Amino acid sequence: MKVARTIESVRRLVKVTQSAGKKIGFVPTMGALHTGHLSLIEAARKDCDFVVVSIFVNPTQFGPSEDFKKYPRPIEADLKMCRKAGVDLVFVPAPKAMYPGENLTWVDVEKLSEPLCGKFRPGHFRGVATVCAKLFNIVLPDIAYFGQKDAQQAIVIKRMVADLNMPLKIVVCPTVREKNGLAMSSRNQYLTAQQKKDAAYIYKSLQKCRQMIRQGNTDAKKIIAEMRKVLKQIPSGKIQYVSIVDAESLQNIDKVAGKVLAAVTVKIGPTRLIDNILIDASER
Ligand code: AMP
Repeated sequence: MKVARTIESVRRLVKVTQSAGKKIGFVPTMGALHTGHLSLIEAARKDCDFVVVSIFVNPTQFGPSEDFKKYPRPIEADLKMCRKAGVDLVFVPAPKAMYPGENLTWVDVEKLSEPLCGKFRPGHFRGVATVCAKLFNIVLPDIAYFGQKDAQQAIVIKRMVADLNMPLKIVVCPTVREKNGLAMSSRNQYLTAQQKKDAAYIYKSLQKCRQMIRQGNTDAKKIIAEMRKVLKQIPSGKIQYVSIVDAESLQNIDKVAGKVLAAVTVKIGPTRLIDNILIDASER
């Protein structure tokens, strides 16, 4: 496994790989790798000949009062995991390599960046789209892999790739969960054992939503009210949003029909946890 810290060395390796006719799979991450990340690496290994993982805590996607400074950066453990998972190249750029000076060019995926997390994290998806565009231009992947766990991010990136005619495919992989249903996340490290137990209500609220839709409920307000009741059982939990939206446009819906995304964000203490599930209301 190669570890590259500069853009130039990634470009060199990519050139050699491409001229050997190899298909490049790319998994962008912020590190503190867990089984969720590994599932993306696994998918990339299945489809591609050469797997690149980037580890970069991207400053431009964090708000001023967010956890950029304290975000976990266990780089040695991450590299070990990548090596074990059969990654070919890990790109670990320094912030100065990615943002050498004032950044004047931004990718803003309008409309899709505004609802859900966009409301609570202004500028977040602009930072995500911009860093992904930069990473795609450096790594030149055939396929890039994203997790359903960050559903809005995956939709934003897919739209950016389509709108800007970027020559790669985006694959979205299922959310990997702990035994109690909690979606795996690097931020779960911030939780105490009790908070981790309590956080299981997040997935339970989503299951409640699916169950109600399966039973024929179509009134989004009513379903959301029931989901909120489930979430209220988290003692230190503060609900940011509970939404049922159209799975493509991410716009709120009153009446559940077709493919919808149920999405929840709860703060447990200072830790912001997101989760979602896709539901096809036509499959009853
Ligand atoms: P992050 O390091 O949190 O930026 O995540 C990097 C990639 O891993 C993103 O595409 C995430 O959606 C994905 N990911 C994070 N957690 C999970 C999970 N529990 N299951 C599947 N994918 C995940």
